[in-house]
Amino acid sequence: MNKRRKTKNVTSIAIKLNAIKVRDLFFKFLIIDAILMAILIGLWCIESEKSFYGELVNNAERAINFYPIETATYTVIWDDGKTMVKAASYFLYNLRKIIIIVGMVEGIFLLEEIIFGTARVRKILKPLNEIAETAERLSNMVFDEEKFHSLEDAISKISPVASDERIHIGDSEFKGLEDAINKLLDRMRDSYRQQARFVSDASHELRTPISVIQGYANMLDRWGKSDESVLDESITAIKSESENMKNLVEQLLFLARGINGKTQLTIEEFSLSNMINEVIEESKMIDDKHVYTYINLEEVNVYGDVGLLKQTARILVENAAKYTETGEKIVLKTGRNSKGEPYFSVQDNGIGIDTEDIPHIFERFFRADTARVRKNGGTGLGLSIAKWIIDNHNGYFSVVSRKEIGTRITVYLP
Ligand code: ADP
Repeated sequence: MNKRRKTKNVTSIAIKLNAIKVRDLFFKFLIIDAILMAILIGLWCIESEKSFYGELVNNAERAINFYPIETATYTVIWDDGKTMVKAASYFLYNLRKIIIIVGMVEGIFLLEEIIFGTARVRKILKPLNEIAETAERLSNMVFDEEKFHSLEDAISKISPVASDERIHIGDSEFKGLEDAINKLLDRMRDSYRQQARFVSDASHELRTPISVIQGYANMLDRWGKSDESVLDESITAIKSESENMKNLVEQLLFLARGINGKTQLTIEEFSLSNMINEVIEESKMIDDKHVYTYINLEEVNVYGDVGLLKQTARILVENAAKYTETGEKIVLKTGRNSKGEPYFSVQDNGIGIDTEDIPHIFERFFRADTARVRKNGGTGLGLSIAKWIIDNHNGYFSVVSRKEIGTRITVYLP
């Protein structure tokens, strides 16, 4: 019933607005008609004078006598005594016909506006009407104590982490609030699940090196103290495993800081070519088992965090080295693509990645399930760190890889 009243209100406003529109249109037509008439009469007078006298002269006496139409005349007396008395009734009958036709067309426009205009105005007013309705509903909402208690109850019963339970207050006036809270709960649960998975994956990854170290410690305890070879083997293994663990923990810390928004980027302009050159020099020093080549297609300067982007390049180069036979080539390239976006790429002719694995290589802890990947003992975190860095630079990757042929990973920094 309320609704009907409001619709009625809008209709009456629409009718009023349309009436104003029709009135304005009517007056506009009237003015146009008057101007049209004046122009036609003026032209006719000028034309008559010219054809009678030969030219248009300023100094002449003119008299228009258009009523009654049957005997209407236009009289001009020139200085030299020449006089023209021209019958105007034929012209006036024609003028009347023109005005009637124009008037009929205008009348059709006015009629259309009267009939359909209100509906159009109502359509325009519709959103306003909805706002008014919502405002009225809100102002009429009674926040009595009981409602507040039921809201409190519903919120306190819900667990933000464990279940997929949703809040339900059972009051239509709280529908919007209910939806907002449920969406917030979904997001909280999502992020909680992600965190829980991260912690569980991380613990799982740490268990292996700890077990290995524990195993060697036990072995030393039992037999190793006096046995040189056991001592040597154990020390080597413990050193390598603790190194792995250190790397893993450092990578985990980096990702955790990233997730918590604690890693700040220091953006500055720098030469991408210089940075890649530095990475190559470092890699040559650490790794003499591969042949490093640099192709600098174009000197490019980019804006970004030079430290983090260098870390990305290192991750890609380390992977290329890890998954490529000794003696093979690793090629780094910098330049711009056809869209002018700066890029750097790292290409190897190593073991390659399975097509179905490519979409997953940037996931945390993902490692392709091949013997050689397992043997190389990566953490599966390198590329997820690289992805975090490039995402935070609004950049993107492209990966081209073929099994047993090689891999090229390109980083674009638009
Ligand atoms: P990892 O520490 O295991 O190298 P990453 O996140 O850096 O972890 O890489 C994830 C996986 O992607 C690797 O385990 C490997 O299977 C695959 N991968 C990455 N780079 C290459 C590459 N250049 N050649 C072959 N496989 C690669």
